[in-house]
Amino acid sequence: MATVSATSAKTADRSLTVDEALERILGGVPSLPPHEVALLDALGAVLAEDAVAVHDVPPFTNSAMDGYAVRGEDVATAPARLRVVGDIAAGAYPSELVGPGEAMRIMTGAPMPDGADTVVRVEDTDNGMDVVTIKRATERGLSVRGRGEDLRVGEVVIPRGTVLRPAEIGVLATTGRPRVRVVRRPRVAVLSTGDEVVELDAPIHPGQIRDANRYSLSAAVGAAGCVAWTLGIVGDTPEALRAALRDASSADAVVTSGGVSVGDHDHVKPVVSEMGTMDFWSIAIRPGRPLAFGELRDGPRRVPIFGLPGNPVSSLLTFELFVRPALLRMAGHANVARPRARARLLERVDKPAQLRFFARGIHDASDDTVRTTGPQGSGILRSMSLANCLIDLPPGRERHEPGETVDLILTDQPEAR
Ligand code: AMP
Ligand code: MG
Repeated sequence: MATVSATSAKTADRSLTVDEALERILGGVPSLPPHEVALLDALGAVLAEDAVAVHDVPPFTNSAMDGYAVRGEDVATAPARLRVVGDIAAGAYPSELVGPGEAMRIMTGAPMPDGADTVVRVEDTDNGMDVVTIKRATERGLSVRGRGEDLRVGEVVIPRGTVLRPAEIGVLATTGRPRVRVVRRPRVAVLSTGDEVVELDAPIHPGQIRDANRYSLSAAVGAAGCVAWTLGIVGDTPEALRAALRDASSADAVVTSGGVSVGDHDHVKPVVSEMGTMDFWSIAIRPGRPLAFGELRDGPRRVPIFGLPGNPVSSLLTFELFVRPALLRMAGHANVARPRARARLLERVDKPAQLRFFARGIHDASDDTVRTTGPQGSGILRSMSLANCLIDLPPGRERHEPGETVDLILTDQPEAR
């Protein structure tokens, strides 16, 4: 097989803004089909059907308090003495009626007996067993939860497209749904390239470095609610890369790091071009350029592939800016943008004048200030681990001064639903 020259990558070089690149990426990724999963496996996924209540919630009128079920007219004034005619625990069903001048002891969640329309809290009584004294006048209907007051049978309780949080999982549980249809979570192959990159537990020789990216990127895939399929480290030969990508193409998406510069050993672009298509973009940002985006062909399937830069900060940051939104979109999320904020810069920041610069920042929301995490080199991964935001500085300036208001991307917060 002919070896494709790595330098062909240079000829395809194009310059794009972040927004242009993201728009192309979001337009180029497929949405995944729905499937049915057990309710707990649906956390974080996107609901692929309108969930309809199959019965009223609560299914019967019940007490909101421990106390006495009574007739409202009997407790309109206090004190009042009522005859205790029974006891209803949660899970029991009352067979007797509460008549005038009568009360029934009732536990929280227990069904209201016929005749009663009001619950007097136990704290407002003398807790009597045979006869109870009501010490406080109680309004009719108090402490009673009506049948269907939360959800009505037939009502859409969670619309299609909703990202399921614990509260939605609970709502689905109350309507008696052990399984739900959600958009499938993307399974994402992650691999590292580079002859210098070694496994975490391998002996390390001069000139070698540990594989940070496969771990940070696989974790980022997981944090995006997707399933990481961590493939190995691939050496800098077209043959090794070809074999690895053939494997990887059974995933829903592929993320590689390294090998997308225009050095002699950078094979990602030419090899992917053989196996599908790949655009090689020079995005006017720091850290992070270059970025390669394309698709592998696996029979009729088209598998998006992201060739991220090798520097550990650049790869994780370009994942955040481009890959995370793409994976969320594949998983059915309508909104793929992190929340943003503005804050007062506490220190001077120097940046390359022509580039959009994403400084790693520490945002203090209590006084709307932000400072950087310190040294901002694209190999300094601590700058990412200390950060709770990205300071988004536009092209056109080479310096920002203390006191200026700057834009932030709140990378510690989930995308609004
Ligand atoms: P590359 O994009 O392949 O030219 O790599 C750029 C820089 O990132 C080089 O210093 C590489 O050694 C480093 N690098 C590449 N891959 C990894 C990795 N998986 N983990 C840590 N550093 C890496
Ligand atoms: Mg490399």
